[in-house]
Amino acid sequence: MKKIVNTVLVLVLVVFMALAGFVYYAWIVQKRSKSASELMVQTNAMIDRVRSIAMMDNSYTNAIRDMLIMDKTTMPASSYGLPDSMKNTLKNIRDNSENDTASQKILASLETVMLEKIAYNNEIFTTAATRPALAKQLITAEKGHDLRINLMKLVTEYLGENRRKLVARVDNDNLYTWYSFLTTIIISFFTLILLLGESRYIYRLFLKLKLRTNRLYKREQSFMRLAEETELILFKSQVDGIFTSVSKRAAEMTGYTATELIGKHYSLFLDEDTHRRLEEFYMNQVKTGDDYTFQEFEIITRSGTKKWVEQMAALIYGEDGRVKEFQCIVRDIDREKRNDDQPMYLQQRLDAILDYMPSMMFIKDMPGKYLLVNNRFTEMMGVAKKDVIGKTDAELPYDWVARYAPLDQEVLATKARVKAEDIITVNGIEYHFLITKFPLRNADGEMIGICGIGQDFTEKANYIKAVENANALAQEAINAQEMFLANMSHEIRTPMNGIIGMTNLLMQQHQLTPSQLEYTGAIKTSASHLLVIINEILDFSKIKAGKLHLQHEPFDVYEVIDNALFPLKLQAQQKGLSFFDEIDSAVPTYLLGDEIRLNQILTNLVENAIKFTHHGKVMMKVSLVEENKAAATLKLGFEIKDTGIGIAPEQHDLIFKSFSQTHTDNARKFGGTGLGLAISKELIELQHGSIHVDSQLDEGACFYFELPFTRNKGEIINKDEKGNLIHIDKPLHGKTILVVEDNEINQQVVFHTLRNAGARTDVVNSGKGGLEMVDYKSYDCIIMDIQMPGMDGYQTTQAIRQKGIQTYIIAMTASAMKGEKERCIEAGMNDYISKPFEREDLFHKILKGLGEGVPEVSTKTAAETTAPSALNFSTVYKMMSGEKEHVKILLEDLLDSIPKKFSEMNTLVDEQDWQPLYMLAHQMKFNLNVAGLQQASNVAYTIERDARLEENLDTILPRLTEIMQIYYKHAHLIKEHIDQC
Ligand code: ADP
Repeated sequence: MKKIVNTVLVLVLVVFMALAGFVYYAWIVQKRSKSASELMVQTNAMIDRVRSIAMMDNSYTNAIRDMLIMDKTTMPASSYGLPDSMKNTLKNIRDNSENDTASQKILASLETVMLEKIAYNNEIFTTAATRPALAKQLITAEKGHDLRINLMKLVTEYLGENRRKLVARVDNDNLYTWYSFLTTIIISFFTLILLLGESRYIYRLFLKLKLRTNRLYKREQSFMRLAEETELILFKSQVDGIFTSVSKRAAEMTGYTATELIGKHYSLFLDEDTHRRLEEFYMNQVKTGDDYTFQEFEIITRSGTKKWVEQMAALIYGEDGRVKEFQCIVRDIDREKRNDDQPMYLQQRLDAILDYMPSMMFIKDMPGKYLLVNNRFTEMMGVAKKDVIGKTDAELPYDWVARYAPLDQEVLATKARVKAEDIITVNGIEYHFLITKFPLRNADGEMIGICGIGQDFTEKANYIKAVENANALAQEAINAQEMFLANMSHEIRTPMNGIIGMTNLLMQQHQLTPSQLEYTGAIKTSASHLLVIINEILDFSKIKAGKLHLQHEPFDVYEVIDNALFPLKLQAQQKGLSFFDEIDSAVPTYLLGDEIRLNQILTNLVENAIKFTHHGKVMMKVSLVEENKAAATLKLGFEIKDTGIGIAPEQHDLIFKSFSQTHTDNARKFGGTGLGLAISKELIELQHGSIHVDSQLDEGACFYFELPFTRNKGEIINKDEKGNLIHIDKPLHGKTILVVEDNEINQQVVFHTLRNAGARTDVVNSGKGGLEMVDYKSYDCIIMDIQMPGMDGYQTTQAIRQKGIQTYIIAMTASAMKGEKERCIEAGMNDYISKPFEREDLFHKILKGLGEGVPEVSTKTAAETTAPSALNFSTVYKMMSGEKEHVKILLEDLLDSIPKKFSEMNTLVDEQDWQPLYMLAHQMKFNLNVAGLQQASNVAYTIERDARLEENLDTILPRLTEIMQIYYKHAHLIKEHIDQC
């Protein structure tokens, strides 16, 4: 740069000098030409004056001549002064040509000749006045002529002299101008050459500069890139430490981005001490002018962690030669640094760790000298480090030495690890230690000592003890809970069994009036409801206790669904709701799974749908959601939809929780415990299924659940057998059965049930009594209660079996405990029935146990065999639990009451009294259904609905007539059926 400036300066100087030269040259030329022209003017003036002298002389001579010729004595006045003018003029000329010697010489001669001529003329003039002829002669005399010629000659000589002088001057000037021109050309030429040279030089300098700048830029770029790649930070800072540029890597090393750092002071990264030290150091670098310095220091990154870095700082100078900035390269040396300090650092840490670890530790060398013991060792052993280190066991006077020395010997002998547990008591506190001793080896695998570690597991030992205690307590609690469940089950279910059983027996009494029958029916229904609640609570407790075990047995899914829906459809009908059910034909008939739970879930959901729907309909749809034919697994989807009160979306989750209902008055208004959905959900999830509800308030509800099943390829038991039993007259006819039961009511229930079924039945109230009876008499079957005072059912059974008696024994228990059946079988019993039992269940089990198939049902489904297809008595049989006597009574009652109700209804239609008509139609709907007239019942339902809504009133009478026609058409068939009962 400097060079360029100098060169440019030289160039300017040269141009300036050249310019000055030209100006000077012009000035000189101008000056010379001015003096030349002055000279010419002056010379011409002189020449003119000299000529004027000749002319004046001529005039004077002529004047004299004219005077003489005209014979005058005077001349024109103007001619008199001519001689003086000639003299003056000459004088003037001579004065002006003082320095010109050649001219002076001529002028002197001219003066002489002029004066001679003047004198001669004056002579003539003066003569003329006196002697004119002489005067004339004088004029024509030669002298005058000669003088005039001389004068003319001198004038011409003067003119020639001056002309020569002028020419010489012009020649001289020409030569001068030529030289000047030549010089100027030469100077210009040299200047041009110089200019060209300088320009080239400057151009080259610029090129070089550009090249250098480029190279510098590239170098800086590659340097920056290198810096980025080598994980270096490159930065520049002002002398005062403010960052002016920072490479991108800064973010990685410091946590600050390059942009964030620009404008910040480097002290941002330093603690106070380091800042002070570096400040001093770099000020000193600036002072001494050290080009490069290296410093290692710790920076604090943005996250607050400390990092060792090495910084190379180079000074960058400005144009003025002063330090302009620092250019620095920073390298992360944290890892190296820490590695450098590692051994020391590790040693200290290791010591600290060893000292503060909760385990005891020692290291011995091969001769048995202690090299290291940690704090815990000294604490537990009650020694100081200095007393132990460097000594062998033999030199130590402590009790514990003898206790542990054999272990060390063992390690030395076996060169293998040994372990032992030990309890050490310090200040009355027991510490549990797991002591591990093992050989220490060098890199070549040679044994160089023993290391012993005593791991303190006092807390763990205490914890284990506490856990064991807690487990024992928990187990006790579980046992207590199970006992409670068992007892509750027993205590409640046993009397329930009594109530239901006795009600059943009561309902078998022929002499009951219809209202008595109705009351006993109500007792049975209430008892059954109560039992449902108890069962729900028990179920829920079992699920929560993880005690509910699912069956995985074959069943007919169509049958399970039909059985579940049958009573529900009736309920729906009685409530005036339509009920639709649909099973996808792709659903296979036989599945493996838990039919009881399926029934339970379906019943609960459909019951809810009916319960919470006041108008409209309930629908149930079953579909095959997916099937894996290879694995024979499938998933069924069950949709239960109603048009009832619906559930607000925010309560969808709530209703699946235990004891939760959408309205506080639900229990009172609709009954229920709030457990049904919770149980259903648990049961579905236990079977790996899912359930959800879709509903809005007042817009009905749609519950949907999916359950996985396995296709059943094997045979399936014919459940109808069991169902049919209720229609068989004396299924146990001729069988001898012993009932061992301590509860009096149950004794009666079982006794009457069996006896009514045709069995010859003995009852004893204790295990002991049972034993005596079997000695005395042989039975086809023994019904054995489990919980009895004295000998319980298990013990009695075992005693019977010990006697070698193989009579079929059916356990009868109210216990809901899981594993009860297994315990009974284990004790030697053959089957198990829970209280309260279903009669047909009991009969089925007895007959199955005795190896007898279920007898052909001669009176099988009386309704179907005896009534034409128009009549269906299934409802009445279901209601009366298959008791023909009761069916008979009920049907007789209906034959009596239905016609009366018809006439009442007719009257009400006449009177257009719709509300009472609606109530009557409601009853009629039920009565006709019970009487087997389903079709008529359906029509009655439409009357009930329209009368209530007061719609389609004009068609009520024809519909009533239609019902009556159906009834009277079939009344004789009902009578026939009554006769057969
Ligand atoms: P419960 O019926 O014994 O009260 P659930 O667990 O079966 O108990 O049902 C819990 C609550 O969910 C019910 O009390 C009722 O508020 C609501 N619920 C269940 N099913 C329906 C339904 N189909 N329509 C409207 N509400 C229902």
